[in-house]
Amino acid sequence: MSRKRIVLFGGTFDPIHLGHTAVAASASEQIDADQVVFVPAKRSPLKTFFPEAGDEDRLAMVKLAIAGNKNFEASDYELKKQWPSYTLETVRFFQGRLGETAAIYWLVGADGLDDLAHWYGIQELIDECNLSVMQRAGFEPPDFSRFEKLWGKQRVEKLRKNVVETPLIDISSTEIRRRLSSGRDASEMVCPEVLRYIREHGLYGSRKD
Ligand code: ATP
Repeated sequence: MSRKRIVLFGGTFDPIHLGHTAVAASASEQIDADQVVFVPAKRSPLKTFFPEAGDEDRLAMVKLAIAGNKNFEASDYELKKQWPSYTLETVRFFQGRLGETAAIYWLVGADGLDDLAHWYGIQELIDECNLSVMQRAGFEPPDFSRFEKLWGKQRVEKLRKNVVETPLIDISSTEIRRRLSSGRDASEMVCPEVLRYIREHGLYGSRKD
């Protein structure tokens, strides 16, 4: 019997954008996943600042953005925790809930590669799930050779094998927040339902038209 494949996609999603949904769809296809679960973070354990939009708003926007895809769902697991969750804890939680027969994939953009060495329990994380690095516009294709001394050949081989060739989409939440706060258009970067939510709730310094 083949194992059920579950993709977990963590991020601050401040706000979720068309790059997120496009790479998630592409990764899901390549992995042949049964389900993709978006897991908004309270904040990155490696960042000192909090997201601009609140937890509820970010989760609501994720739900709006994924509503059209029946294989996508959103989890409030990390948002409900009192402290920012480490990815390893989140993966262990989902593994416990899904059972040992499920294979978990955790997506991360190539822009996060340098940070990986600082992730809590990174070696256990590589061992316990399939850490899948996605390409990202504006960043070099993932090169793991510098990690070989730190984590060993086998782990690096696993990372290489799990790279997903996602489309290069030049969109970031930072650029969207920048545009909205200066009254510029971001409609090519976020789905219409999310843009409407942003305007209705006056997020990111945007105003109702
Ligand atoms: P910010 O600009 O606020 O840092 P972001 O656009 O990078 O935000 P995050 O919510 O931090 O969005 O991203 C969640 C995950 O999705 C990260 O692993 C990130 O690398 C990845 N990601 C975000 N945008 C893209 C994109 N356009 N292509 C590939 N990966 C992406």
